[in-house]
Amino acid sequence: MKTELRDDVVEMDLICVVCPIGCSIKLRAKDGKVEIVGNRCPKGYEYAMDEYRDPKRILTTNVRVLNGDHELLSVKTDSPIPKRLIWEMMRILKNIRIEAPKEVGEIILENVLNTGANIVSTRRIMRRKS
Ligand code: SF4
Repeated sequence: MKTELRDDVVEMDLICVVCPIGCSIKLRAKDGKVEIVGNRCPKGYEYAMDEYRDPKRILTTNVRVLNGDHELLSVKTDSPIPKRLIWEMMRILKNIRIEAPKEVGEIILENVLNTGANIVSTRRIMRRKS
């Protein structure tokens, strides 16, 4: 959770998701100085800094399929993308139509929004028999 106390003070309570230990991390930023406590290792420090500067997430959703044996194809980004771009990405994916067939791991869209991430299929979809 991110709390902006004043213009120059930000506090965040985070659970590190880098490994299963799940350390509780507190971040406090004031006047450009960032304090981080609760991480057991440097990866947790980097995770907290990323959450503060530009949080990223893997996006998972569905896209519509043309001529497939299912109407929807589950997809995801193959690397985390900035959280601030997720709604724009969802809008793009809502409006595309994918032609069947598709294999697991097949790239649906390359380098979406210039993030370096691709949208890939997470299931196999066959062409509908007519
Ligand atoms: S801070 Fe280090 S030990 Fe703790 S959850 Fe993150 S990666 Fe694991």
